[in-house]
Amino acid sequence: MYEQGSICPICGTGALEKKVIEEVFTYKGHSLNVPEYVLFECADCGEALIAPASSKRASKLLKEFSREVDGLLSTTEIKRIRKKLGYTQEEMADICGGGLKGFARYESGQVMQSKGMDNLLRILDELPYALDVISRRPARRFAKVVSLVEYRNKNSYTYSEPSNDVASSEKKKSALG
Ligand SMILES: [Zn+2]
Repeated sequence: MYEQGSICPICGTGALEKKVIEEVFTYKGHSLNVPEYVLFECADCGEALIAPASSKRASKLLKEFSREVDGLLSTTEIKRIRKKLGYTQEEMADICGGGLKGFARYESGQVMQSKGMDNLLRILDELPYALDVISRRPARRFAKVVSLVEYRNKNSYTYSEPSNDVASSEKKKSALG
């Protein structure tokens, strides 16, 4: 890690000077100010090296900002919808697609959801019964549901690891059908 006075790895002669600035990022014409942005600037060659922690934090903030600019659900909203439906991250991924680790990554801000996934989550938020459609169960349009948890328990959905094993995938298919 760099510190004040470290020798510059770029030119090999200059000493690094620590600077704390407010960096401005732009995304599609919108600006995001990131305060407390730490970088080390070389007095000789002028190269600026960004502190890894600042770079990591900025990247996360920038992803969240891009979501906002693009009109996509925030990490908090994704988590809220998933919790409302009553599923774990893995179960949600199994139902909605996007890869097993997809929801963990959306919620931690590591990865941005696609527009399609975003639309799907918005639909599930407003119309939880759409789960019946995508989990290939018969529609229950007229069911009177007291709470989502009850709904879920009534329609017990069991999650299983994806498998290449033919017998188990056949079993899964018939369980869902
Ligand atoms: Zn240098």
